[in-house]
Amino acid sequence: MTTACFREPTNADRRAGILALVMYLAAVVLASATIFLLEWPLGMVLWLGLVLAATVLLARWNAAHSGYRCAHCGHQFEISTLTELVSPHGTGSGGWKYLRCPRCDRLSRAKALVRNSCDGGRATDKGAS
Ligand SMILES: [Zn+2]
Repeated sequence: MTTACFREPTNADRRAGILALVMYLAAVVLASATIFLLEWPLGMVLWLGLVLAATVLLARWNAAHSGYRCAHCGHQFEISTLTELVSPHGTGSGGWKYLRCPRCDRLSRAKALVRNSCDGGRATDKGAS
């Protein structure tokens, strides 16, 4: 497993998250037309498949772009798409997810972070010459 670096979310990160959620909801609503346009039960089955695929894609996007900080020991870690899908979460205090820390093995409302390049985006371009 590769190590990842994380930072506190900014307003731009929150906007990107809201945009992803709005796009997800719009896709679910638009795809619901298949229920009425196709014969029963094909339309319903197709819609459920599309909703499932969109949900997995949203969770995968979130897992790839986020990390979490343990409320007990401060350890920062990433989670799998499956954990992203099934773990309880909320928006209070900038976002949290109820997770077990891989370092101290305790459950907590882990604070949501944003995945970042490990040089912090401050890599110098003068080093080579
Ligand atoms: Zn911990």
